[in-house]
Amino acid sequence: PSWPEHGAIKVSNLALRYAPTLPRVIEDVSFEVKPGEKVGVVGRTGAGKSTIISSLFRFVDPDAGYIKIDGIDICSIGLRRLRQSLNIIPQDPTLFTGSIRSNLDMFDEYADLQLFEALRRVNLITPEDYQLLIDSNGKLEQDLENVENPNKFLKLDFEITENGGNLSQGERQLLCLARSLLKSPKILLLDEATASIDYQTDALIQKTIREEFSSTTILTIAHRLKTIIDYDKILVLDKGHVIDYDHPYKL
Ligand code: ATP
Ligand code: MG
Repeated sequence: PSWPEHGAIKVSNLALRYAPTLPRVIEDVSFEVKPGEKVGVVGRTGAGKSTIISSLFRFVDPDAGYIKIDGIDICSIGLRRLRQSLNIIPQDPTLFTGSIRSNLDMFDEYADLQLFEALRRVNLITPEDYQLLIDSNGKLEQDLENVENPNKFLKLDFEITENGGNLSQGERQLLCLARSLLKSPKILLLDEATASIDYQTDALIQKTIREEFSSTTILTIAHRLKTIIDYDKILVLDKGHVIDYDHPYKL
C-alpha cells in the first residue's frame, strides 16, 4: 500500500539544531495534525516556521523527539520515498525553462486533457475557456491552434522563460498547485508568498486549497491572517516553541 495513506502528522517533543555546534532553534515542539486538516503556521521572523517544514523533509534531523506520518517515524523511511511523498509549494517557486506541459508533467505521465483539467481546477483556466478546449465528444479539440484566446495557459507549449520570469509569483504558485493536484498528495506544505502578490491571485490560491485539496493535509506558513482565518488550526511559534495551537477563532 502507498504511504502515507491518510496524511496524519504527529510531532512529538521535537528539538532541532542546524549543526552540532549550533544552539537548538526548535525546542520541545509537539502537535498533531489529523488527516485532511488545514493548519496555519505563524510566528515572527526567526520563530522556526521554515525549520519545521524542512524537518518534515529531513533537511534537518531531530536532535530529540520524533515526527511520525501515519504512525511511521520519518527517520525510518528512505529519504527518496519520504521526499517523493510530500508536496511543497515554495514561497517563490522556481520553474524550469521549458513549456507549461513539461513543467506540469516532467515524466510525461499525463494526457493533455488531464493537464488542462488541473489548470482549470487551480483557476488558471476559467470553466468557459476550458469548454472551448473540449469538443462535443468530451475529447480535446483537435485543432487547438484555432482557439482564439489570450490566456497563455490554454497553450501547453507556451514557453516559460528562465526562473518563470514571464509568469507572476502567484501564477507560479498556482502552476505548482496544478502539478501537485495531478499527484493527489496526502500532505501538502505551502509557504505563502510574502511580497506583492495581488489580492485576486491570493484569493484564487486559497479557493483552490479549499475546494480542490479538501482531503489533503495542509500546513501553510502564513503571513496574512485572512489566509488562515478559515483553517482548522493555527500553530503559533515563538523562539522555537509552540505558544498556541487551536482553532483560529479561539486565539
Ligand atoms: P521567517 O519568517 O523569517 O521565514 P522562520 O520562522 O521561517 O522565519 P526559520 O528560518 O525557521 O524561521 O529560522 C529559525 C532559526 O533558525 C533562526 O534563528 C535562524 O537564524 C536559524 N536558521 C535558519 N536556517 C538556518 C541554517 N540553514 N543554518 C543555521 N541556522 C539557521
Ligand atoms: Mg521562513
